[in-house]
Amino acid sequence: MDAPDTTVAPRNTALEEITSTARAALASLNLPCPAAFALYAATLAAEIPTLLARMLLLVLAGVAVSLLKGEALSAHEAWGKYALLLFAWSASALLVPLAAGMWWQNKLGGRRPSAREHQAYADALDLITDGGHDEIKQPSHWFVVDSPVPDAAVCGETLMFTRAMFEVEQMPAVLAHELGHLNSSDGKLTAALNRLVINPRIKERESYGLLRGEAKRESALHVTVIGALLWLGQRLLALAQGGLGLRILVPLWGGYWRGREYAADDFAKELGQAEDLADFLELHAQVHDAPVPFIWLTEHTHPPTELRIERLRLQEPKGPAS
Ligand SMILES: [Zn+2]
Repeated sequence: MDAPDTTVAPRNTALEEITSTARAALASLNLPCPAAFALYAATLAAEIPTLLARMLLLVLAGVAVSLLKGEALSAHEAWGKYALLLFAWSASALLVPLAAGMWWQNKLGGRRPSAREHQAYADALDLITDGGHDEIKQPSHWFVVDSPVPDAAVCGETLMFTRAMFEVEQMPAVLAHELGHLNSSDGKLTAALNRLVINPRIKERESYGLLRGEAKRESALHVTVIGALLWLGQRLLALAQGGLGLRILVPLWGGYWRGREYAADDFAKELGQAEDLADFLELHAQVHDAPVPFIWLTEHTHPPTELRIERLRLQEPKGPAS
């Protein structure tokens, strides 16, 4: 009667081991939760006009090459499908945000940390993890931006600190908060969303807006066929730049990221950094807070600092004494 148990038990154990290994591998990927994934999928769907604009531009480029080479106009019509590669490049960041860190560092003008910054980082990590930081995922790469404002952020699996952050006493608490973003899907999701937009540099975007405004005034004065074609081309390029889906879903993304800020604060709290993080916010972040009308309708990614401080300092209800 006992025989079946002795043969089945090892199989069950092996199956359990495989299942737990698969679960651990899946957990280490830090994939977005179903709600975030649905929001990302909705953003991709809302970017379909962008995809079509990019396809059209690539087909037009193919036609131009065909004309230059004296080939049939349809010779390069398949170029349109390459527009899908940018969507695939964005989605791939959810699994492995390849090169996202280097791109971000170059975009922000970051540099490698100095020896003393390396030491300060290692000391901070030891402090918040009690020397046992193997269980917490570390950034694959980190860099420093020479700015006098203490700040830190995560994109992909990369961490950014400003130089001023190393002059702040509560730097370990801020590192704990950023590790909260790193030990979730936040960094990867940020990288994936960044990849939906071409040329996301703010200054260039602003100057582009100014130029566009001037061009508008110009075209109002000279309404010609060429003017209309130029206007259409401009609209097509603006659409192909991407970001339509993000603009449409701004309130949902704003709400999502505000929730993630609280989650990263909770992570820092678990590492015993609640008080120091609250002190940092009080000293360095509260001055930047301004009222945000209808915040639930905006892209504002950070909750009001005062509410974060209140939450960080809230004592956990004590359970029965054991
Ligand atoms: Zn944060």
